[in-house]
Amino acid sequence: MINRTYIKDLNTKMGEVVTIAGWVDVRRDQGKMIFLDFRDMTGRVQGVILPNYTETLEVGKTLRGEFVVKVQGKVNPRPERNVKAGVLNGELELEIQEIEILNKAETVPFAVNEDTSCINEDVRMKYKYLDLRSERMQNNMRMRDKIITFFRAHMHGDDFLEIETPILMKGTPEGSREYLVPSRLEVGKFYALPQSPQQFKQLSMVAGFEKYFQVARCMRDEDTRGDRQPEFTQLDYELSFSTQEEILNLTEEMFIKMVQSVYPNKKIQQIPFPRLTYAESMEKYGNDKPDIRENKNDPDLLAFCWVVDFPMFEKNSEGGVQAVHHPFTSAKDDDVHLLDTDPLSARANAYDIVLNGYELGGGSIRIHDREMQEKIFNILNVSEDQQKLKFGHMLEAFTYGAPPHGGCAVGIDRIVMLLQNEPNIREVIAFPKTGEGKDLMMGAPAEMGSAQVKELGITFKIDK
Ligand code: ASP
Repeated sequence: MINRTYIKDLNTKMGEVVTIAGWVDVRRDQGKMIFLDFRDMTGRVQGVILPNYTETLEVGKTLRGEFVVKVQGKVNPRPERNVKAGVLNGELELEIQEIEILNKAETVPFAVNEDTSCINEDVRMKYKYLDLRSERMQNNMRMRDKIITFFRAHMHGDDFLEIETPILMKGTPEGSREYLVPSRLEVGKFYALPQSPQQFKQLSMVAGFEKYFQVARCMRDEDTRGDRQPEFTQLDYELSFSTQEEILNLTEEMFIKMVQSVYPNKKIQQIPFPRLTYAESMEKYGNDKPDIRENKNDPDLLAFCWVVDFPMFEKNSEGGVQAVHHPFTSAKDDDVHLLDTDPLSARANAYDIVLNGYELGGGSIRIHDREMQEKIFNILNVSEDQQKLKFGHMLEAFTYGAPPHGGCAVGIDRIVMLLQNEPNIREVIAFPKTGEGKDLMMGAPAEMGSAQVKELGITFKIDK
């Protein structure tokens, strides 16, 4: 390991000779002197090679932006007139004594020492590892980590247990198309990638854990939509012996504390978060994710609200009935009788949390009774055979002492996007895909070698 001082700590080393390691951020050659800004993961510092360091000046002349260097120098205070107040290392300068080039760099396809948001996005995607060097992207990723760390600690502090659930599974009906993975050992069979850990978290309740959470990757094969990605991250949680009221309250408390701790400069418009029924939201705002901000130009204003009492079912484009949330959601006690007479009018114990006009997430109180679950599948026109085949394990599990339970899941990418004031979630995901689901850096999805495909026992004809 290189024995070095982090750039952020240089102000504690005034007058000392130190070694730093990082990248050349900017080089300004003034002939007799060369000014160099260096960057490591902790920040930036300005250095200068003075005329009397003739050998180092020679090295300095060969440096270009993004070269990787190890630099020895003395930490000097800046002359009064050059002090930049409020900027990291604005009060000091490195008097460079020696530079060792650890690696050279080609001229980068776009400048990474400035905001890259105006660079063509396909180019940024192809060189994502360079895009991520920019200060804005570094900051986005570091704030994302802070938010996730806060949520994890908060959940653990409240006795939730993080359980990892499978990625290779049999699919869960979250209303989207699933990604499929062919099985090699059972030719002709497929795994599905989880649209969410929904079934596993419910089964964790049957398993007696009572409080589950997970920072979970979810995969949905959806058509191109502005702020969607084929894979995204949710903070997913589930509780036994709970009520809608408790889940709303604990979610709300978690968000308030997160904002206070990670974004103390932001202001939450209204606490407790206002609650609207789905019917009220539709009537007043014409949608189920209302933007209730009093001032839409204030980048630090956070207007959370809840939308509750969603309908159980809706008509789909083929004229059939589909679940508004998912088929494991229970009906409101007052509306259970409607399931037999007028299911489309029945309201669900389902809720969404909304921030500044974006749906952050949602959840429901679940069905934990086999007969009720079968009734819902029947309304959804899932045949008895299909019920057994697809959800037999859930129906069976409900017969072995399943506790009443409910939960919620909130989208981490959207939360970070909104808190970082970014226009889309690609800006807060380290290695995102394009709107068409492509990874332009790696070139995924890709054609597989015929030997690999053959091993899977698959032959296919491509219809284009
Ligand atoms: N699994 C649901 C979703 O991803 C959330 C939940 O019901 O907890 O939308």
